[in-house]
Amino acid sequence: MQNSRPLANQTAIVTGASSGIGKACAIALGAAGANVVLDFVGDAAGAEEAAAQIRLAGRQAITVLCDVSQEDQVVAMFQKTVATFGTVDILINNAGLQKDSPFVDMTVAQWDLVLNVNLKGQFLCAREAIREFIRRGSRPDVSVALGKIICMSSVHEIIPWAGHANYAASKGGVDLLMKSIAQEHGHLKIRVNSIAPGAIKTPINHDAWATPTAEQNLLKLIPYKRIGVPEDIGKLAVFLCSDDSDYIHGETIFIDGGMALYPGFEDNG
Ligand code: NAD
Repeated sequence: MQNSRPLANQTAIVTGASSGIGKACAIALGAAGANVVLDFVGDAAGAEEAAAQIRLAGRQAITVLCDVSQEDQVVAMFQKTVATFGTVDILINNAGLQKDSPFVDMTVAQWDLVLNVNLKGQFLCAREAIREFIRRGSRPDVSVALGKIICMSSVHEIIPWAGHANYAASKGGVDLLMKSIAQEHGHLKIRVNSIAPGAIKTPINHDAWATPTAEQNLLKLIPYKRIGVPEDIGKLAVFLCSDDSDYIHGETIFIDGGMALYPGFEDNG
């Protein structure tokens, strides 16, 4: 019989957990038995709402204000997590944003903001997580792995994206950051993987699906003809954090309804 609480007695930090994919991952991890630390920057109410749902499901949850691009705030978030729950078992490196611009008009501020949150933020959080996994040592009664990290990437780690060079560069960076961390720490039984979503209905891409015309245009890029929902990602995150996926390491799992399948060729080119 399948274990309905595969993450029992584990603690997860989810960054950018006040909306969209992060919020759904936090709720899904809580339902799978984990205690959850919900990081947010702007929207405390969204994080609190998800935390309340997790508590209703019988697990513990706290919200923490932390800008993942700031080293001191990331260190403080991990310290608070360890002080509250004893350790960290899972990191969902999810926080991210877009600052779109034609390339020739892109400002250094737009470039830096996206790279600082999407790439440096993942470095800072992963580093603190690995330091804590090593400090705490193995807990074979809880998980085969010493710890698990999921990096939220995007189909744009492989699909170039005109008008979004900063975002695509950040996600391309996440790919080799994830793989390098996985290669370096696999021998410690620290498992590191990426999730690469296609189009998921969240605030980050609201304009791309909010009107029927926009939705129809977006569906042209999706062979499976459905726009994803955050819960699709939550289910995958639970699997990738559980021992059921123990031999998956250093991989990017695309979850995109086929968006990466060159959809321009679906009608015979
Ligand atoms: P979203 O805007 O709902 O979520 C992003 C979250 O990150 C927000 O809660 C935001 O407050 C938080 N955040 C932004 N800057 C932060 C910072 N400095 N520190 C901490 N948190 C910060 O959008 P989403 O779609 O849920 O995005 C989540 C992740 O999924 C992002 O990394 C995004 O690039 C990725 N992604 C989304 C899609 C999609 O179609 N929605 C596709 C591919 C990848």
